[in-house]
Amino acid sequence: MRLLLLAPPGAGKGTQGERLAAWSGARHIAAGDLLRAQAQVNSDLGREIAAYQVRGDLVPDQIVLDVLTPAVTEAAARGGYILDGFPRTLPQAIAAAELAARLGVTLDAAVYLYAPEAVLTRRLLDRARLSGRADDTADVIRHRLRVFAETTGSLVPYYTERGILVAVDADQPPDTVTAGIQARLSGLVRASGRQPGSRSCR
Ligand code: AMP
Repeated sequence: MRLLLLAPPGAGKGTQGERLAAWSGARHIAAGDLLRAQAQVNSDLGREIAAYQVRGDLVPDQIVLDVLTPAVTEAAARGGYILDGFPRTLPQAIAAAELAARLGVTLDAAVYLYAPEAVLTRRLLDRARLSGRADDTADVIRHRLRVFAETTGSLVPYYTERGILVAVDADQPPDTVTAGIQARLSGLVRASGRQPGSRSCR
């Protein structure tokens, strides 16, 4: 299975991505995590990535593609991928489609998790107390939500036009959201030959 999760910060794409990976056998590839790992490296590139992340700005497309392409290529050869937080811009979406074409695969669905901004803000502020993430502060959270609305949100019509958008209400308990996504995707999992629910999704 090959999916991407399109969601504003706080919608639960990390949690849902892990569950969907366990359920489908595809690899969960979280762009933010891979970039955070690179940002820890003591190098000019690491410092550059960290500077974008701490402000809540998007890391430049070419850097994102350099970091993500090897993981996506490997996953495509082994049961697929759940892309969490990638693509986030139109050029990234085009590059992701070109990469899939080069690898001889297609995207099954773009899962859009939506929730009211007040809910997202409250969740992120709650998480901030525990996460230790430099970008989980009130000002940066506001900025990250604006970046989603102004940039990443344009991918919703992009994938709608391609006929693969699956929109799910994320303002529900996590288990309900997972069940909602799985119900919409179960035809795809059957087509990939796996038994849905054959592995724990927690
Ligand atoms: P996330 O963990 O998905 O909330 O992402 C955290 C931060 O990583 C974002 O605020 C961006 O700075 C950076 N980031 C993650 N994914 C991308 C992407 N696809 N394009 C650009 N920057 C990204």
